[in-house]
Amino acid sequence: MRHLLLVLGDQLDREASGFDDFDPRQDVVWMTEVAEESEHVWSSKQRIALFLSAMRHFRDRLIKEKIPLHYIAIDDPDNAGSLAAELTRAIAQLHPQKLVMTAPGDWRVLKSLQQVAQDHQVPLEIREDRHFFSTPREFAEHARGRKQLRLEYWVRELRVRHNILMDGKAPLGGQWNFDQENRESFGKEGPKDIPPPKRFTPDDTTKEVIELVNRRFKTHPGQVSATAEGFGWPVTREEALLVLEDFLKHRLPLFGRYQDAMWTHQPWLFHAHLASSLNLKLLSAKEVVHAAEAAFLNQAADEIPLAAVEGFIRQILGWREYVRGIYWTQMPGYLDRNALGAQEPLPAFFWTANTEMTCLREALSQTLELGYAHHIQRLMVTGLYCLLYGVSPRQVHEWYLSVYVDAVEWVELPNTIGMSQAADGGLMASKPYAASGQYIRRMSNYCQNCRFDPSKSVGENACPMTTLYWDFLSRHEESLAKNPRMVMQIRNLRRLAPDQRKAIQDAARNHRETVKTLKIEPNPDQITAKVRTTTTQRRAR
Ligand SMILES: Cc1cc2nc3c(=O)[nH]c(=O)nc-3n(C[C@H](O)[C@H](O)[C@H](O)COP(=O)(O)OP(=O)(O)OC[C@H]3O[C@@H](n4cnc5c(N)ncnc54)[C@H](O)[C@@H]3O)c2cc1C
Ligand code: SF4
Repeated sequence: MRHLLLVLGDQLDREASGFDDFDPRQDVVWMTEVAEESEHVWSSKQRIALFLSAMRHFRDRLIKEKIPLHYIAIDDPDNAGSLAAELTRAIAQLHPQKLVMTAPGDWRVLKSLQQVAQDHQVPLEIREDRHFFSTPREFAEHARGRKQLRLEYWVRELRVRHNILMDGKAPLGGQWNFDQENRESFGKEGPKDIPPPKRFTPDDTTKEVIELVNRRFKTHPGQVSATAEGFGWPVTREEALLVLEDFLKHRLPLFGRYQDAMWTHQPWLFHAHLASSLNLKLLSAKEVVHAAEAAFLNQAADEIPLAAVEGFIRQILGWREYVRGIYWTQMPGYLDRNALGAQEPLPAFFWTANTEMTCLREALSQTLELGYAHHIQRLMVTGLYCLLYGVSPRQVHEWYLSVYVDAVEWVELPNTIGMSQAADGGLMASKPYAASGQYIRRMSNYCQNCRFDPSKSVGENACPMTTLYWDFLSRHEESLAKNPRMVMQIRNLRRLAPDQRKAIQDAARNHRETVKTLKIEPNPDQITAKVRTTTTQRRAR
């Protein structure tokens, strides 16, 4: 055999560079499902089902095309359980002259495959991932000499280079950024006419996977069942294209305006639900951005505002490329960054959604049920709580990587460590995303349905978010006071009388103690097992 082409579970793209010179007469594709990828963090059932189903659909496509394929299923009795062990087995069986692959997304995976290649003295050719607009090398050049990195400069550079939403050398509409127009709440009446999400009824392949997940990974978080409500994610390129089309037609017009808004029992709102398809490479970032730009430029009825399309493109051309650049320029040390010295364990209710705090209960229950929460729920509800509470960033990272269908480390880690937990010392974001319950009250109706009061930091119905917010500012007062963007918040903190501060600190301590002793319902065994694992992992580190 000439080449063994390695195709990973998040590389399901027939146009990927790995396939460029693929010759079916002398090359073979290698794909393997391994337990390690679902167990190195405690992956949710939704996430495992999505990866396995999408891989099996890609496998079937290759078989249809008569591409020679070495595919090892997770329930194959000889399956060695890890990518490295399976690749070792394949090299021994197939004796390839060379291993070829498109650059993997994760540092951990890259290192383990490189190690196998080196151990067996087989050359490994790694090719650029053309899915993206930029390369890690280009980002490193952009970052060279800058003390702080900022998305705004990076997204402008990419818009000019790729001529996206440009009018000659100027940005279309005369301004680069429309964030100010893109931060509305739904007001008192709540959202109207939310288009139903495009979901798919599981086919036989997906049903088989769901049965396997519920059997083999039954203690893993969340739930999955074989209906469009129980698992409706796109698992093929064709389905992903339908989700894209549906988004452009029905949700893009209001995407920007309500990008940050939240509402009880409304998980989908006007978001794209495309991250999992992008991250599995069922869709390319370029085709999604070009499709959104074309929908705006070619519209007949002026329904899509420039602010909406700029806001959407900024997420993919901007944030997504930006976090990838951060990941590849900062790994492996980024994984252990903890600039604020946060050491608390992750509250166990993150695995059950069993909490009286409505904002957290809403974000967590839909996360466990659907494998989905939108950006502001991740950043300004679950992430905010962990930041204010002082959860160890490593544990926060492991949770985010476990629970979302779109969770892949290269996107998740910078969003968690840099943006949400301010653990990288300000490399990625110019200030911590710290806010009190009042922010959540403004952007949602959660507080109207909560027993706590977001304006109160102490007392019987004090909002834990608000208590922890003031406590966070107090605990980090000295370092935050040096940040010009935190001046207002620190000034307000310093207006509190000493006895008020003391009462807040006591309330925060009480809250933490209560959280740590909470009885876990509804699934105590599962949670105890996880809490135990996390503690063991922490000790091992
Ligand atoms: C703590 C934390 C962890 C996150 N973990 C992940 C993750 O593992 N995988 C992931 O894809 N996104 C992650 N995000 C980013 C973002 O929340 C999700 O991409 C988004 O919620 C997915 O839903 P959507 O497809 O409906 O996105 P939309 O809100 O409709 O946005 C459109 C697309 O833009 C991209 N995008 C939006 N925001 C970001 C961002 N901050 N970084 C990178 N891409 C972005 C996504 O590809 C998304 O599909 C995380 C954010 C936070 C705060
Ligand atoms: S009152 Fe506090 S805990 Fe309750 S929903 Fe609002 S922010 Fe969340």
